[in-house]
Amino acid sequence: MKLGIIDYIDCAHYLPGHDKCGVLHGHTYKIEVIIEGENKSGMILDFAELKKAVKNALSFFDHKTLNDILEYPSVENICQAIRGKLEEHIPFPLTLRVWEGHGKWVEM
Ligand SMILES: [Zn+2]
Repeated sequence: MKLGIIDYIDCAHYLPGHDKCGVLHGHTYKIEVIIEGENKSGMILDFAELKKAVKNALSFFDHKTLNDILEYPSVENICQAIRGKLEEHIPFPLTLRVWEGHGKWVEM
């Protein structure tokens, strides 16, 4: 079975050398986390636990300038970095989709 939650972070970033995105600007990133596991005792994982773990992982990125964390903070690289943090906190196979504003996302 799969179980998911959605959370949001606000971040500033710029893409060095990029025509449009080369100046500092911000996005609200919608973060969808989907875990996969067995429904052994009525739950795969308590939603509250999953939310707490995701909040914990996302606090590393929320209200930060992502260029201080990543050399090139494209949504692809942001997704990989968030996934790394999530895997420290969540012991399930997971799918992560990161939306950069409206209508643009990357998934891994
Ligand atoms: Zn941007």
